[in-house]
Amino acid sequence: MKSDIRVRFAPSPTGPLHIGGVRTALYNYLFAKKMNGTFILRIEDTDQNRYVPGTEKYIIDSLNWCNIPFDEGPGKNEKYGPYRQSERKSIYKGYAERLVKDGNAYYAFDTSDQLNEHRKQHELEGKTFIYNWHNREKGRLINSLVLPDDETKKRIENGDDFVIRFKTPKEESLVLTDEIRGIINIDTNTLDDKVLFKSDGMPTYHLANIVDDYLMKISHIIRGEEWLPSLPLHVLLYNSFGWPVPKFAHLPLILKPVGKGKLSKRDGDKLGFPVFPLAYTNEKTGEVSRGYKEDGYFPDAFINMLSLLGWNPGTDQELFTLDNLIASFELSRVSKSGAKFNLDKTNWFNQQYLQNKTNDELTKLYEIILKEKGVNPSYDFIKKVVSLIKERAVFVKDFWSLSNYFFETPSSYNEKASKKQWKENTGELMKEVASLISSIDDFSSSAIEEIIKNWISSKEIGFGKIMQPLRLAMVGDMKGPHLFDIIEMIGKEESVIRIHKIINTLS
Ligand code: GLU
Repeated sequence: MKSDIRVRFAPSPTGPLHIGGVRTALYNYLFAKKMNGTFILRIEDTDQNRYVPGTEKYIIDSLNWCNIPFDEGPGKNEKYGPYRQSERKSIYKGYAERLVKDGNAYYAFDTSDQLNEHRKQHELEGKTFIYNWHNREKGRLINSLVLPDDETKKRIENGDDFVIRFKTPKEESLVLTDEIRGIINIDTNTLDDKVLFKSDGMPTYHLANIVDDYLMKISHIIRGEEWLPSLPLHVLLYNSFGWPVPKFAHLPLILKPVGKGKLSKRDGDKLGFPVFPLAYTNEKTGEVSRGYKEDGYFPDAFINMLSLLGWNPGTDQELFTLDNLIASFELSRVSKSGAKFNLDKTNWFNQQYLQNKTNDELTKLYEIILKEKGVNPSYDFIKKVVSLIKERAVFVKDFWSLSNYFFETPSSYNEKASKKQWKENTGELMKEVASLISSIDDFSSSAIEEIIKNWISSKEIGFGKIMQPLRLAMVGDMKGPHLFDIIEMIGKEESVIRIHKIINTLS
């Protein structure tokens, strides 16, 4: 049975999802699953000016790729739906009017020019203009608190532009609780009367957000630190409506790897890493932003890395499956201070996950890359290659540069290594090695090794004199796993071809 714990991830579809947003979704998901609760996706698209088509799909695709799907949301278990605020437009007006009727909100008719003028005037006097009790009833501002009732009514009926503002209480001390930050004291005199509703019929974020959280029975609000300044208003709104206040948890920022401040797309561009889960094409500018998926990260590695950016399990454990994370996650272990993004650590996670995948899983992934390159070896051959090279890889895409010589004859030889390893008599010796290899019947790594090593000993020359040029012949470079494993894999005929090729090229 599901518990009453209900949390929501409430992004605005204004562009691709930053990894900070993915982490917010992840912590909501982990908390919901741990508490046997429900994870909801709500699309907060009341601000039509900032709406970017396609980003809702991007958000859903991202959550699916990360393997943190929502239980309720657009198109899925619409029990408390619709889950797009633009489709809930008709709901909010009544709530705004209820606040006005109860004396908790009022109509304001000030134009933006008039408000700018007030701001300027205050600045000249060395003061900051706040639209709240300091000014609202002094007759300088135009609102239903100072206008006669019939005048207010007339203006609304005439279709004059208006907004509905929250009437922030004067001189109250609010004591707020945040699950991560503890007690926060706020003096209401510092708050301005935020706009809740506009005459175009649209609510602002604040009204729509709390009405929906109430109607969708949200028990815990887990969101980014940037929303902490809105907390006093939100709690005041709950109180004004007489609704129970949900629990709040504001997550710390994800910080730049170097320097101060929030991790931005610019940091990613500069230092060469993605800040989005999936690649994103800006339809207006055509600019393509890289994504973790397309850059070759495993979703489970990405999620593991992200889980530890702001949360810690209280132990040294770093590797967590999603199920482990669900079992271990505690809101109380989320830190107050920002967490620095670390690219090396991110890659380390991917490397760990890659090493823990089975050879079959990796072979299937590598097969796709090889097909794209037009190389079609047998599955078993690829699997053997994978087993030999995987420990050197961070990404599956590294496999090709680590193993291309298994599939094609080297087209060039590392220049530095050639100079160092290819001596006067190397060509002659390698000719002998080629005929020796041709004569081997049991073409297994250990047999080839024994025969070649015995032959080297009988010649009374250093092992390096043969082993290094032979590696260069097979690989084109000095890298790669055990040389005789490579020779066995490549096969007798191709090995001999490669030896002749290097002799012709370097001698
Ligand atoms: N729509 C807000 C955002 O884009 C949601 C804030 C909240 O979770 O209350 O982040």
